[in-house]
Formats: sequence, structure tokens, C-alpha cells
Amino acid sequence: MNLTNPQPIYLSIVVPLYNEEESVEKLLLGLLEVGRQFEFAYEIILVDDGSTDRTWDNIERLKKTTLQLRAIKFRRNYGQTSAMVAGFDYAKGEIIVTMDGDLQNDPSDIPMLLGKIEEGYDIVSGWRKDRKDHVLKVLPSRVANAIISSTTHVRLHDYGCSMKAYRAECVKSLKAYGEMHRFFPALASMTGARVTEVPVKHHSRKYGVSKYGFERILKVLSDIFAMNLIIRFSSNPLKGFVLCAVPFLLLTLFFGGLTLLALILQWTVGKAIFFMLSTALTGMAVVHLLALGVVGELVVSTSDLSHTRMPEITKKCIITNGEEQVAKRKVRGA
Ligand code: UDP
Ligand code: MG
Repeated sequence: MNLTNPQPIYLSIVVPLYNEEESVEKLLLGLLEVGRQFEFAYEIILVDDGSTDRTWDNIERLKKTTLQLRAIKFRRNYGQTSAMVAGFDYAKGEIIVTMDGDLQNDPSDIPMLLGKIEEGYDIVSGWRKDRKDHVLKVLPSRVANAIISSTTHVRLHDYGCSMKAYRAECVKSLKAYGEMHRFFPALASMTGARVTEVPVKHHSRKYGVSKYGFERILKVLSDIFAMNLIIRFSSNPLKGFVLCAVPFLLLTLFFGGLTLLALILQWTVGKAIFFMLSTALTGMAVVHLLALGVVGELVVSTSDLSHTRMPEITKKCIITNGEEQVAKRKVRGA
């Protein structure tokens, strides 16, 4: 690497690590091994997500001898999604590749992901076709994949695979939290990003333990729900509130009709009051929901929610010329 006139970074490899002290050095060696075939400048960003073991000590030691290595340390454990987002913010590359730091993903797949990006895709998602995890982890993941696939417009086999390549501009502005890293392709595709999937290698965990238990199923389910709300209504919240208001409006009409009948046909006073109160209550619900919808519209129109403000990203992601991308091809032999 020429330090006096450094090439701009083309690729940033972002890896979140939480208590992976035994894997970190092997991971780095694997990445450097693959990096030898790159004809462009790259960086490796290790994000220590508040590890309590020697992960950060190992990273600091490795940093002394590895120019490509940059690192971030969180004060506490914020979660894999936050670690990835911090890595995106820090990344200087045009392309960002993410992967797990526990050696379950294989760095040798990176050139293939880059090859797909150079074909003109904005996001290339790995598919652990031959997944080496316990069946109790694979089964819920299959169910989650099926739900995400049927409720978002991006059809993938394996949303949870961390091994992915992104054009940086497609993910840098995503607002993500919870376990939302598996929805990056769906969120980015809302801005016009072209997404594809490729099978990648997968290994069983050799060191340390998985950081997730059964509680992940609940987190993923709630994120699927939140994600669908974002996809459907973030650019047009009034629509969501109008949909919620419709049943109350029908009830208002129903009770309003009964109130009229009660007055015209002179039903008992008790009945008339009950129907009147019901009409007022359901009518108020309609008014409140519509008012919330209007507030939502105002919030969206003044906020910088990336998925509702598309033009900048859309310009960059959609109008990429396939030929330009091929001309940029920099991976030897890819
Ligand atoms: N990870 C993280 N923060 C967390 C949980 C996990 O940075 O709170 C990292 C972890 O160190 C690993 C990757 O995210 O590099 C995937 O985690 P894990 O292997 O536990 O997930 P699994 O493969 O079991 O789905
Ligand atoms: Mg793992």
C-alpha cells in the first residue's frame, strides 16, 4: 500500500464482533489472504460490540501490524445491527461487504459478491444454502425467511445471512435498529436498489458461542411487523391511519342510523342515549385517527427518513450504468 499517495478505498469489509476473542485473529488472516488478490485499496473495519473478553485487546494488537485494519469499540453491547450501522458510517469504501466475525462466513466468497456488484447490482445477499447450524436455529429462520419474503417485495432465501455486499450509498443513510440488519435489502430496495442473491459457503462455529437464543424469534417477529409498517406507510402514514379509521367510521354510521331510528320511532330514552354516546365515541375515534395521520404526514414531510426521501439515493442507485461497472472491474480473475 502506498502511504504517500494512497489510493481511494474501494472496498470496506465491516465485521461486528461480540466476545469473539478466539476467532478474531484467524478472521483477519483469512481476510488478508483474500485481500492479496485485490488490485484496489481496501479496509477492514472490526466493530467490537462491547465485548467483555479479550476481543478488543486482540484487535489493538493486530492493528499494530495491519495497515488495512480500522476498528471501533462500543462502550457496551448495542447489538449486531448497531455495530453494522457504525461500520457503515465509518466506512470509506464505495462498496461495503459485511460478514460475521465467528468464522461461519468465508472470506473467500468476497470476490464473487464483488463480481455481482460489478454486474450492476446494488446489493448482493449471501445465501447459506448448505447451512451448518443446529436445526432448532435453521427452522425458525426458514419460517422468518418465508414471512419476510411474502411480506416485502424483495424475494430472498436467506435474509439473516450477514455475508452481503452493498454499494455504500445504498446503506449509509438507512436508519436501522433492533435486529433490522436482515432487512437492509428490503429497506434499500424501497429506494430503487437492485438486489440479488448468491449461494455462499457456511461453516459451523468453531470457537465461542452463538450470541442469540430463542428470544431472537420474538425480536425478529416484532421487527417483521415494524418493517412492514415502515414499508407500507412510512412515506404515506395518513393512508395507514385512514385504513384504521374505516371500521370506526362504519360503526359511527351504524350507531348514527340507530340513533335516528330511536328518535323517529320513539324508542326508550335509555336506548337513544346509548346509541348517541356510541355514535359520539366512535366518531371521536375517527377524528383522532385522522388527526394522527395528518401529524404523521407532517412528521414525514419534515424528517430525513431515508426511505421516504428518495431522490438522492435513487439517482445514485438506479442510474448506474452496467458498462461503467464492468469497466471498473478490479478483482483479478473475477
Ligand atoms: N454479534 C454482535 N453483537 C451482538 C451479537 C452478535 O456484534 O450483540 C456478532 C457476533 O460476534 C458475530 C455475528 O454478530 O460476529 C453473528 O452472531 P452469532 O454468530 O452469535 O449469530 P448466529 O450465527 O448464531 O446467528
Ligand atoms: Mg454465527
